[in-house]
Amino acid sequence: MSLASGPGRAAGLLSDQELCPEKHIEYIKKLDSRKDELEYWLTEHLRLNGLYWGLTALNLLGCPDGLPREDAINFVLSCQQNNGGFGAAPDHDAHILYTVSAVQTLVTLDAVDELDNRGLGGKQKIGSFIAGLQDQETGSFMGDEWGELDTRFLYGALNALSLLGLLDMVDVAKAVSYLQKCENLDGGYGISPGAESHAGQVFTCVGALAIAGRLDLVDKDRLGRWLSERQLDNGGLNGRPEKLEDACYSWWVGASLAMIGKLHWIDGAKLAAFIIRCQDPDTGGFADRPDHTVDVFHTLFAVAGLSLLGFEGIAEVDPVYCMPKSITRKIFSA
Ligand SMILES: [Zn+2]
Repeated sequence: MSLASGPGRAAGLLSDQELCPEKHIEYIKKLDSRKDELEYWLTEHLRLNGLYWGLTALNLLGCPDGLPREDAINFVLSCQQNNGGFGAAPDHDAHILYTVSAVQTLVTLDAVDELDNRGLGGKQKIGSFIAGLQDQETGSFMGDEWGELDTRFLYGALNALSLLGLLDMVDVAKAVSYLQKCENLDGGYGISPGAESHAGQVFTCVGALAIAGRLDLVDKDRLGRWLSERQLDNGGLNGRPEKLEDACYSWWVGASLAMIGKLHWIDGAKLAAFIIRCQDPDTGGFADRPDHTVDVFHTLFAVAGLSLLGFEGIAEVDPVYCMPKSITRKIFSA
């Protein structure tokens, strides 16, 4: 069970396109049957992420059973390494980014119990792997045993641990104080203290603060202003000043705005029209911008962006976890 990006061109000429959900469902379901294509093998390093992206997009498109459940679970579990973490594919080194995708996928498929049922050490083993990545001095997280620090890893750690109900395995207060050091004077957040603001890092820092229950620490007006300045005349959003628009920033910027209650500070109708121009109405899937090649990563974040905007026919997404709200609601109300 695995996914890779596929061929196709997004059409940018039609301005009044309608969303083609059946095409996107078909596109995602077919990704796994492209094993005879070179690109499938070139994207092996993204396989477990690809499964999460495809499965989540299918859920939001109203097709939660679009992938064979048993195959999906077997594939996820085959990526677990001896240290409890998950690699991109079987026999790949464990990394926090794949471990989060594994946890999100197992939770979405309601299959966390399989870790116990199959003698894999249960969720505690995953929790130990993640907890071992926290830097005791700064509170931040490494991605793997090699030690690079990045706020993406911190967000991933809190995301996965909270989904597993294991947040108390790490020092959340220390992680929060690290996040505060990553806040810049323009209101945004960077990859580490002093680093330039970037919408992707804003999402990870604000998402981590949301999970920690500390959104009160965010200067919402200042950050909301910086985020809303990411919208360009064509409706699309960029990741930082002077950069081009990209459909995936519909998610990184849009979800950040949603978490701080400022999504109405951008023009949602213009953004939705831009996102739809990024779809390929013939082969299905979304690209980063009109006329580019579609891939499953941009397909998820385009669909999730439309969900944030309340687009008709798309299920509600959780802006903190990028998972169907129906699932996170069930987890956190239990
Ligand atoms: Zn992108």
